[in-house]
Amino acid sequence: MAIERETIVTVCCSDIAGQVRGKGFPARELENRRRFGVGWTPTNIMINCFGRIPATPFGAEGDLMLVPSPEGDITLDYGDGSPVERIVLGDILTLSGERWDGCLRGFLKNALDQLEAETGLRVLASFEHEFWLDGGEERPGDAYAASTLRGLEPFIGDYVGALRANGLQPDTFLPEYGPKQYEITVDPALALTAADEAVKLREIGRSVAKKHGYHLSFSPVVTRGIVGNGVHIHFSLIDRDGNPVAYDAEAPGKLSAIGASFCAGILKHGRAICAIAAPSVVSYERLKPHSWAAYYLNLADRDREALLRICPYPEVEGVNVAKRYNIEFRGADATASPYLQLAMLVHAGLAGIREKLPAPYLSSGDPGTLSQAERDERGIGDLPRTLPEALDALEQDSVAMGWLGPVLSKAYLMHKRGEIAMAEGIEIDELCRIYARAY
Ligand code: GLU
Ligand code: MG
Repeated sequence: MAIERETIVTVCCSDIAGQVRGKGFPARELENRRRFGVGWTPTNIMINCFGRIPATPFGAEGDLMLVPSPEGDITLDYGDGSPVERIVLGDILTLSGERWDGCLRGFLKNALDQLEAETGLRVLASFEHEFWLDGGEERPGDAYAASTLRGLEPFIGDYVGALRANGLQPDTFLPEYGPKQYEITVDPALALTAADEAVKLREIGRSVAKKHGYHLSFSPVVTRGIVGNGVHIHFSLIDRDGNPVAYDAEAPGKLSAIGASFCAGILKHGRAICAIAAPSVVSYERLKPHSWAAYYLNLADRDREALLRICPYPEVEGVNVAKRYNIEFRGADATASPYLQLAMLVHAGLAGIREKLPAPYLSSGDPGTLSQAERDERGIGDLPRTLPEALDALEQDSVAMGWLGPVLSKAYLMHKRGEIAMAEGIEIDELCRIYARAY
């Protein structure tokens, strides 16, 4: 019998390390496997970005199922006769089919269910990604220059086409400020879909880059001292009928009372969230002043250095401002799982609504020019400046630890502290090179 080349489907999860890991089987088994997936192990969540498990609360025990989600499919068929790449994002369940406490996708689902049950609100979100591409060319003065796209059209076209073929709606593709730096955005979607899409967008980008002989990296810092690669998480709130509720034309910054409470919750728990949103040693090489990344815990109207930025909207005729109105969280990067990042924002926002927190101070200008006393007066705190500091902030925030629950919070701190220990003694430029390859 002649050999027929088969396609393997890999069921994957996006894990604490922000890596997409899983196990595969022949594609013809997919329908069957949609019921019970593949075997998975609790300790897998402890594999860090260096591919090691410095410590684990789970040991070698326990068995789970990683089950394909109906919305999880990624298919990369380049139409040139080369093998089709197939991944399905999944949920980690116990053997009896319950959500496992360490499943990050399940953690986001729970957060969204809680928000909806308590407030009737849903979240629309979109993850805006910046990345570095080794195939890009550098010339002096090329920030945002059209010339930086030249020669890359086949890659860019395939990337955008692959997103669309996988159900994402491409929005923009642009040259960014930094050397060999680009940005890609997709339309907003309901939060779980948006997080699925963020995972997909990264994997699709890596696959298409490889196909074209390039290496693409979403690591927050590839070229130190210039600008980093951010992930800006845009969000807005809608009611059960789909009406936007974060906008109020009469309010400061046009942020409604409920939107303001949601934002205030994020700022209140912002230091803990940072441990999840910017979760790598090199993340803090990006969160520096004057690099269009966040440095303080503040909300601002159209200011690129705020942690929470009220985004601009076109004030021209025919534009529904309430619908376009959204806020972005600028403290995130792609070394985290989008599920975990968004879940923390949702939990914090819900806590803010529950406590009816008042609107945060709407800052304008660089908070760094204010004295400490002036910042304190305005409620503008400092973001953690290192990962160890962020992890301590998370550990000290008993409310945020409660959202994660005992299993995930313990695993998370252990995972990240193990990563820090492994990074110790590695010179920072070398560390940036390692992270650039890992992400
Ligand atoms: N590269 C910046 C960051 O790290 C963002 C630049 C921009 O506003 O697009 O977040
Ligand atoms: Mg950008």
